[in-house]
Amino acid sequence: MFRLTVEQTFSAAHRLRISGHKCENLHGHNWRVCVTIEGRELREDGMLMDFHDLKALVGAVVGRLDHAYLNDVPPFDRLNPTTENICRHIGEELAARLPHGLSVHAVQVFETDGNSGAWLPD
Ligand SMILES: [Zn+2]
Repeated sequence: MFRLTVEQTFSAAHRLRISGHKCENLHGHNWRVCVTIEGRELREDGMLMDFHDLKALVGAVVGRLDHAYLNDVPPFDRLNPTTENICRHIGEELAARLPHGLSVHAVQVFETDGNSGAWLPD
């Protein structure tokens, strides 16, 4: 099994829909997203996937969230925009765009330097 990891950042505002919690107030983060994909077979050129191409795919998914108010962006207009849900959203969107034979191993999202969440598909 081979794995590749790329990192991207995005800036966005959100409000958690948790009554009485301070994160219910409008605030923002500079999120850091680490995505790891995996696959069993390398291409003939010895790569699992070109880093440039992987970054472009992650950028397409994350780009929808950058400089946005997450509570207005589907699926977060209905789904609480927690770090956990952001991880899963990015992972599922990326999985649908990966070339055949590759899958998402993990998505880790850092809300701050010390706080991160991760999603690993079943
Ligand atoms: Zn927050």
